[in-house]
Amino acid sequence: MLDFSLEPEFQSKLDWAAAFVREEVEPLDLLFPHGGDPYDTRNEKARAVLKPLQEKVRAQGLWACHLGPELGGAGYGQVKLAYLNEILGRSYWAPTVFGTAAPDTGNAEILAMFGTEEQKDRYLQPLLDGDIVSTFSMTEPQGGADPKEFVCRAWREGDEWVIDGEKWFSSNARYASFLIVMAVTDPEAPPHRRMSMFVVPAETPGIEIKRNVGTMDERDSLDEGIHGYLRYHQVRVPLDAMLGGPGEGFTVAQARLGGGRVHHAMRTVGKCTRAFDMMCERALSRRTQGTLLADKQAVQQFIADSWIELQQFRLLVLNTAWIIDTQPHGAARTQIAMCKVATARVLHDIIQRALHLHGSLGTTGELPLARWWMAAPNLALADGPTEVHRTTIAKQVLKNYSPASGLFPSEHIPPKLEAARKRYAHIINDDSLSGGVNA
Ligand SMILES: Cc1cc2nc3c(=O)[nH]c(=O)nc-3n(C[C@H](O)[C@H](O)[C@H](O)COP(=O)(O)OP(=O)(O)OC[C@H]3O[C@@H](n4cnc5c(N)ncnc54)[C@H](O)[C@@H]3O)c2cc1C
Repeated sequence: MLDFSLEPEFQSKLDWAAAFVREEVEPLDLLFPHGGDPYDTRNEKARAVLKPLQEKVRAQGLWACHLGPELGGAGYGQVKLAYLNEILGRSYWAPTVFGTAAPDTGNAEILAMFGTEEQKDRYLQPLLDGDIVSTFSMTEPQGGADPKEFVCRAWREGDEWVIDGEKWFSSNARYASFLIVMAVTDPEAPPHRRMSMFVVPAETPGIEIKRNVGTMDERDSLDEGIHGYLRYHQVRVPLDAMLGGPGEGFTVAQARLGGGRVHHAMRTVGKCTRAFDMMCERALSRRTQGTLLADKQAVQQFIADSWIELQQFRLLVLNTAWIIDTQPHGAARTQIAMCKVATARVLHDIIQRALHLHGSLGTTGELPLARWWMAAPNLALADGPTEVHRTTIAKQVLKNYSPASGLFPSEHIPPKLEAARKRYAHIINDDSLSGGVNA
């Protein structure tokens, strides 16, 4: 049975979160606006504002809601998380305040699933407590979207693994206490068995940050972004640094990427809603050529199209969350890919319209829209480009179909008409009845 209502107790949590994010968290977006600020554990002023806010979230039982109770979360599941993430998506800082910031969420899941007790004590607990941040180091400069192109190697020497090679766009590497690194351990194995995953302490000798690359919504200077271009110079880690078994790098990566993608989608609903609210306010505030913008048909179409797209997207995300919650692992694969593709598209289109309706002001740093707009292409690339996910969707969907059994499509009308005539021959051949049929 379909039921879109929420339990009153949970609704009151959401109401609390909505007011809290607007009043107490959104100011952080203005005070500490740079890309890396939520991850920079060395910024004492930012941490001094952040810590009491995180305590308030804990007191409400809303800390790290994506995690089960065994890891200190509320174990809400994805549907409830979707509703909460809509609220958090309004603010750049909110995921950090609520203990649900990527990539730490996914890295925590990997450590919880595959880490040793010692690794959990050393990294997982401080990560869950919000005291450290981490990096997921997978993409390589010569081949990002296709891991089969990866060449960063790891080989065994005695009781150590030695990692050697380059990684590109390892977000937050400059702030991270540890990195989760994917490396080729068996180049001769079939493509999906070639790689393994390692947890590497950031202070391990041999890790070089060649540059801190910035996306266009971050800082302009070449070395002031948050995405590490890294070189691992024969970095040595103990044997138990491998997460999962040898050759299981893809499996471990998949365990984290699905959740991350759908969480981005949930937060994007919130960001789009905020941009949509701004669009509507502007339409009702600005006059030109004798009427409000809201009275112009072109503007009405902007608003209607945005609302339809936003509501369709929201239902897709909620339905995906429901599948993750209720069906076996992997059942939501196609849905997650659909969310991933839609996230980038809906965000881009709604923010573009909202920005455009604000005219010159929309293009400036005096509204958040220009920065959001500059970040829109990121979501079409991070966690894999749109094209790759479209391919996944098409391949999965096509598994439910088979080729036509004959020369013509199964919906070819001539044979179907013949069959229809046969089925109802006793009526259409009854001359005592009036009326005609397709001859
Ligand atoms: C903001 C941001 C944060 C990121 N954070 C991380 C991180 O923390 N850790 C990490 O490891 N990586 C990270 N990435 C990297 C991200 O995973 C890669 O950008 C992505 O996998 C694409 O790789 P690429 O950038 O090398 O693009 P390429 O692989 O060069 O692809 C470029 C373009 O080629 C086309 N293309 C590629 N493959 C196909 C295909 N199969 N079919 C049709 N067209 C195709 C698409 O148009 C694609 O956009 C991040 C990226 C961004 C933008």
